[in-house]
Amino acid sequence: MLTGKKVYVSLAPSWAGVYDFSKEKMIAVLKKLGFAGVSETALGAQEVSIQTAKKLNEVDAGLYISSACPVIDDYIRCYRPEFAKYITPIASPALTHCGLLKDKLGDDIKVVFIGPCIAKKNEADKHPDLMAAALTFDELNYWIKEEFIDIEKIEANSTYQFVPEAAYEGSLYPIEGGMNETIKQVGIKNNDVTFIAISSLEDFDKALQNIDPTKVENKIFVEALACSGGCINGPSLASEKSKILITSDIYANIQYREEIPTEPRKVVPVEYVPDPVQKTEYTMEQVTKALKKISKHTIEDELNCSGCGYASCREFVNALIAGDAEPSQCVSYMRKIAVRKAAAMLRCMPSAVVIVDSNMEIVEANDSFAHMFLTDEMYEIFASRPEGLAGACIDRIVSFPELFKSALDTGKEIHQEHYVIKNKVYDISIFTIEDNELIGAVISDVTRSEMDRTKIARRAREVITKNIATVQEIASLLGEHMVETELLLSSIAEDYDTSSGVDTDVH
Ligand code: SF4
Repeated sequence: MLTGKKVYVSLAPSWAGVYDFSKEKMIAVLKKLGFAGVSETALGAQEVSIQTAKKLNEVDAGLYISSACPVIDDYIRCYRPEFAKYITPIASPALTHCGLLKDKLGDDIKVVFIGPCIAKKNEADKHPDLMAAALTFDELNYWIKEEFIDIEKIEANSTYQFVPEAAYEGSLYPIEGGMNETIKQVGIKNNDVTFIAISSLEDFDKALQNIDPTKVENKIFVEALACSGGCINGPSLASEKSKILITSDIYANIQYREEIPTEPRKVVPVEYVPDPVQKTEYTMEQVTKALKKISKHTIEDELNCSGCGYASCREFVNALIAGDAEPSQCVSYMRKIAVRKAAAMLRCMPSAVVIVDSNMEIVEANDSFAHMFLTDEMYEIFASRPEGLAGACIDRIVSFPELFKSALDTGKEIHQEHYVIKNKVYDISIFTIEDNELIGAVISDVTRSEMDRTKIARRAREVITKNIATVQEIASLLGEHMVETELLLSSIAEDYDTSSGVDTDVH
């Protein structure tokens, strides 16, 4: 619960590459969201580098693995537990930063990390006393939208500054090799450390093979990051920007200081305890059943793409059986389901549906489309092709290809109601799937209903005309009748008048 407490942001250094606005504006936006202040996680990174340099200057030859990436820490603890004791026994830059902020701003403040890393959520769960919560840049963007904050209109001035101070070289951390660079800047006395940077879990796992850390004769420090290229490739970076530009913007934002302290202001000691994952062997029957659940029936279906987060389909299936994973994690299975669902929906739609690419060739069309626009003879030909209408030119099939061309060229949606071509009437909606590349169209043949409407209108007009005629007839009959009655009454009155001598006026 954050209620009643001042909440500060620990902002990951990659923000400078992701958001194209000034730090003053970034701080103003975060303050608008309710944060009391914003601080750079890079401050914690600096402390980690100072402490690591200090240790590397003191220790003997051996293997030392950085603790900066929580995924690497957990991976070692769970899957390569024999290396856990080689992780430097200090907290990550993010947790160190949270500790530093509490020292500076008061122990009762709360700190929320915001950055590109989803693994920080785990860190927050494990160390709620330091990190109250972790948000990703994706979530931050969503929050800004949800609050209807117009970044353009946010006013920022020079009073908006990072607290308690701006960071320096620590901002290099999200780039592969950045941590090593900062440790070297702090200073390695005898220049006796071999610095190695590995970024990607797969490469890291490979690097740990065939090495006996007890027999390492040099002082080796490994900066290990789970994301290929470093945190600038974090899973929730929320930017389509080129990695080249992100890296260059991060570098452009860094301020270097003349002298880096050699004693850290804050160290949060952490012991990385091995927590090996217990592997259970499952029966062939259990494995086959689980594989079927994710639509893997042959060995070729096992793509081992790691999209689920597991190294192979078999590993994923083991997790499925153990109840640690869900079928929806399998990317190829979800794709298969999505394709099947889309195909079933297309098939069942009474309207004609067609998808056309930038070459004006059909990518996909349903049966209603084929029935609507093909002659019986053409229908037979296309029905016998395994690919159906795919690859056929739309201008050879429909008599209004210009609408498709226009939608592809302009990227604008087209809605045509009662579009008359020869003796047909269509309702046509063309929409963009991928700008200037792929469009879809839903077409309804409304000729019949239009004819029915015309018929009904004509019949209605006939009835009205008849009714008017009848009414006119009734009216005239009534009129005649009135005249006749009047004449009759007049004559009676006259007769009566003549016989009685009374002066009677009949109208
Ligand atoms: S490398 Fe990836 S997982 Fe590791 S700290 Fe950076 S963003 Fe997080």
